[in-house]
Amino acid sequence: MSRATTATIHLDALRHNLSVVRQQAGTHGARVIAVVKADAYGHGLERVASALAGADAFGVASIDDAQRIRATGSSHPILLLSGFDELTDLALLQDLRIDSVIHHATQIDMLEHHGRGTSARPINVWLKLDSGMHRLGFAPDDLLPAYQRLRALQQQGTVGNIALLNHFAASEELDNPVTQAQMEIFDRATTGIIADRSLANSAAILSWPQSHRQWVRAGGALYGQTVMAGKCGADFGLRPVMTLSTRLIAINHVAKGGAVGYNGTFVCPEDMRVGVAAIGYGDGYPRAAPSGTPVLVNGKKCSLIGRVSMDLMTIDLRGLDAAQVGDEVVLWGGELPVEVIAAQANTISYELTCSITRRVRFVDA
Ligand SMILES: *Cc1c(COP(=O)(O)O)cnc(C)c1O
Repeated sequence: MSRATTATIHLDALRHNLSVVRQQAGTHGARVIAVVKADAYGHGLERVASALAGADAFGVASIDDAQRIRATGSSHPILLLSGFDELTDLALLQDLRIDSVIHHATQIDMLEHHGRGTSARPINVWLKLDSGMHRLGFAPDDLLPAYQRLRALQQQGTVGNIALLNHFAASEELDNPVTQAQMEIFDRATTGIIADRSLANSAAILSWPQSHRQWVRAGGALYGQTVMAGKCGADFGLRPVMTLSTRLIAINHVAKGGAVGYNGTFVCPEDMRVGVAAIGYGDGYPRAAPSGTPVLVNGKKCSLIGRVSMDLMTIDLRGLDAAQVGDEVVLWGGELPVEVIAAQANTISYELTCSITRRVRFVDA
């Protein structure tokens, strides 16, 4: 018998969330890049790209992912968010019609080298400014020279359209002045350049309308997730896309004083029933989730107890006398926001859905 561990992907929720993003961004006429990197935040790239065919473009982190999208038959624009990093990538960008972020002068060197003597299809580029996050992008003073080099490449036919990009460091922190400062730095550094602009990630789409411009880049919001502390996607009208579930495979009576699981981190305060569910960190459930983390057994809220192990977890079934072996256990999704589990495990929901492993069965719903 195969394990019951299942990630159910609600495609209607994906489409609903895209419409929420569109509504937000549409006020300013912005188009939507659906960010589907990391196997669509763990939801499965092909199914998500197909369900989100209504998006204006896709954002990926690797050429492989772009290739997988093209294999579904999609002709959407695809943006390589971290850019290419080898000369040999350029022919692939042309063949697959992939647009690339340009964040470093070495990439422009490669375009110049590649451009000599070729008459192949021009590559659309998104020039990235580092407006304060200090990860990828040109420093404000270096932006214009980089733009001018790209313009020269455009005139010789190596580069196609040139657009402008920026990434926020903390747009989910509404009282953090860094977002406003990043917008001002962006506007100053790009003054006078006539080009499409894209600044906003999910949190900025939902909370910083002045950042919307011509294109927004939505990741987490499409999956119904937020990284805003203390919030879940439903607070913004989003619907959770993934339900992670399994079944109880045992129920044991443990006497008062009995220690449950590895290292006995949970000691039964009374005689009690302990359920064993077929899921563990080998499936991607976070081992860091402590005793007290909520799970749903037959839709009723219970608590995980003891250490999460590789294949199994143990659950406090006090107050749930009807629970039986075979009953459904939901780890997140539906009424149990993944953000709640992430907070318990000291991380963000994106990491949890990205971490689901290959032995989990995926089902479209
Ligand atoms: C991942 C990513 C996004 C999407 O961020 P969300 O917070 O998930 O919306 C947008 N832009 C870039 C450059 C990214 O790498």
